[in-house]
Amino acid sequence: MVPHAPYDAIVLGGGPAGSAVGRLLSAWGYSILILDAPAPRSRGLAESLPPSTQKLLAQIGVLDAVERAGFFRATGNTVWWGSGDRRVETFQAPGAREAMGYQIHRPDFDRVLLENARDAGADVRADAKVKDVRFDSDRSVAVDYDDGELGRRTAAGRFVLDCTGRAGLVGRRFQRSEPGYRTCALVGVWKKAGGWDLPDETHTIVETYDEGWMWSVPVSRDTRHVGAMVDRASSTVAGGRELELVYRAETAKATNLGRLLDGATLDRVWTCDASLYSSAQYAGPQFLLIGDAASFIDPLSSFGVKKALASAWLGAVAVHTCLTDAGRKDVALDFFSNWEREVYAKHLGRSREFAREAQARHPHAFWASRAATTDAGDVSEMDVARDPDVVAAFERFKQASSVHLTLADHVRFEPRPVIRDREIVLENAFVDQAGLETRPTSERSKTRPTSTLRFMGNVDLVKLADIACRHTDVPDVFEDYCRTCAPVPLPSVVGGLSVLVAKGILHERV
Ligand SMILES: Cc1cc2nc3c(=O)[nH]c(=O)nc-3n(C[C@H](O)[C@H](O)[C@H](O)COP(=O)(O)OP(=O)(O)OC[C@H]3O[C@@H](n4cnc5c(N)ncnc54)[C@H](O)[C@@H]3O)c2cc1C
Repeated sequence: MVPHAPYDAIVLGGGPAGSAVGRLLSAWGYSILILDAPAPRSRGLAESLPPSTQKLLAQIGVLDAVERAGFFRATGNTVWWGSGDRRVETFQAPGAREAMGYQIHRPDFDRVLLENARDAGADVRADAKVKDVRFDSDRSVAVDYDDGELGRRTAAGRFVLDCTGRAGLVGRRFQRSEPGYRTCALVGVWKKAGGWDLPDETHTIVETYDEGWMWSVPVSRDTRHVGAMVDRASSTVAGGRELELVYRAETAKATNLGRLLDGATLDRVWTCDASLYSSAQYAGPQFLLIGDAASFIDPLSSFGVKKALASAWLGAVAVHTCLTDAGRKDVALDFFSNWEREVYAKHLGRSREFAREAQARHPHAFWASRAATTDAGDVSEMDVARDPDVVAAFERFKQASSVHLTLADHVRFEPRPVIRDREIVLENAFVDQAGLETRPTSERSKTRPTSTLRFMGNVDLVKLADIACRHTDVPDVFEDYCRTCAPVPLPSVVGGLSVLVAKGILHERV
């Protein structure tokens, strides 16, 4: 039976993305149903989260609960990447708690987040397998699910938020697999009584070899998950004993990590798909694809959970905007989709760089296919920051005792979506007439017809331009910006001024 009053949103899946979006929308007063059918605990991965995840956890309102759960904390990574030399990467400010990452066992982490969503008021069904999603009318979506002993149920919602990860209940019809990135993870859990005899046993360990790469994440002093990432095409193995043999043979290929396993006991082995994909579409009038349901980035980044949480936060903002003002629905859904597209493109570009580095030492098809992925063609902020005109302006500002800036006469504005508090609104942004010049000639044909400038890092360029024209030295501009907008580091303000000058939006009067 379909209830008379539909939920504001039905969340499919209760992993990090589902719990986070469900928690936020419930806390903001919406009626939310979360349906989750968790995978078996024995298949739960150990994953590492970088220290920067804490900010997002706080924004979602779950940082204290995650802290209380007492996950193993990490101080950095130990890496052999395309090299026989070990690289030790220590997170900044070693020792400070906020500078430590988390080594989480996913079933425990997911439970903490799901309980928090329930505490915030979400109707959580923790043993409910979604069977079908029907877009019956343009006002409501029907979701059929098996609710454990309660049997088959149907619920109606104004939105359905697909957070089912790789299953992609709604998303799979839009999924585009990434050619060259078909990866299978062979994962084993190892125990070594008395610890691992490592310089830092909290570290994630990563090592490349010819046909793949391996990682190891600890969940406690004596237990580590060790995964081999291999080509999916060449990894068709049966389960049981054969899988264990294949896995052991793979671990022996990584010299340093393989040696670490000497004297350790293998508890269990399983496989999971880790191939990359994006989506042709990330949202529609009644649905959003959030987290892994939208795209899957390279696990090497250790950013999958962070991306899922960020996607959930932005998804909640987009849904809130749609439910607050139907007139802004298209703007909100476009904003969400563009963000998803850009995040995927940025991570794919990074993975390709890492693959190229590894390929130099391991000239194998595994690395060649990953190194050859094509660029999604976005201009990143890094590209802008490296523009010679921006660099030159930055150097001038660093040395200038006084500045005299005016807004150029030709400056044009266009409304562009920005996030204000919990909503996506339209505000004026500078039209970047010089923007096309910031990329190499070979890339220019791929540019959008107009690009606009509103934010650079965390700096609001429209507000900065206004403030900059009212002062005659950089420290005053910086102080005024931090007081009236938001505290940001001095180099960000100087960087913002440099971009505005290099793009011809501000003129320097001598
Ligand atoms: C080998 C490997 C290693 C990784 N290592 C890391 C790492 O170190 N750090 C990191 O940040 N990320 C890592 N990731 C990525 C990370 O696992 C994902 O990015 C993250 O899980 C995304 O969260 P999500 O909530 O979008 O999806 P999921 O975590 O997949 O959650 C989806 C939820 O939906 C449920 N579900 C699915 N179908 C249904 C259905 N029909 N009905 C109801 N519920 C359903 C699932 O059971 C699950 O609970 C790794 C991934 C892999 C494969």
